[in-house]
Amino acid sequence: MFSYPLDHVAVAVTSLEEACPLFQLVAGDPCSPVEELPAQGVRVLFVGSVELVEPLGQDTPVGRFLQRRGQGLHHIAYRVPDLPEALSRLKEEGLELIDETPRLGSRGHQVAFLHPRSTGGFLIELVQAESPTRTGS
Ligand code: ZN
Repeated sequence: MFSYPLDHVAVAVTSLEEACPLFQLVAGDPCSPVEELPAQGVRVLFVGSVELVEPLGQDTPVGRFLQRRGQGLHHIAYRVPDLPEALSRLKEEGLELIDETPRLGSRGHQVAFLHPRSTGGFLIELVQAESPTRTGS
């Protein structure tokens, strides 16, 4: 058997700079530097295990999410040891993948999302941490 640990929980916010102090106040963790991910249409930062996600524009998936639902829980992410293997297993189980192959996510990690159409509306991300032996900065 296997067990994927929780990697992070992500909340959609209208402004990273406005949301950061609240989460820092509650949890005590400092806000990480902001990372911009143009391919995903977002800017993100981490406060401990919480990822704050701000859309780069209204016409992005997170921009539309905020218009529909307001600020709130956006996705949960599990850490997996082998992302391609996890994706093919879940696809075989009948889940729909947004990402058929892993893509580069925040913190330099490989990520892939499952489609909410096939999960009862939950957006679930799978994260494979970068190799700790990776060279370079
Ligand atoms: Zn995430």
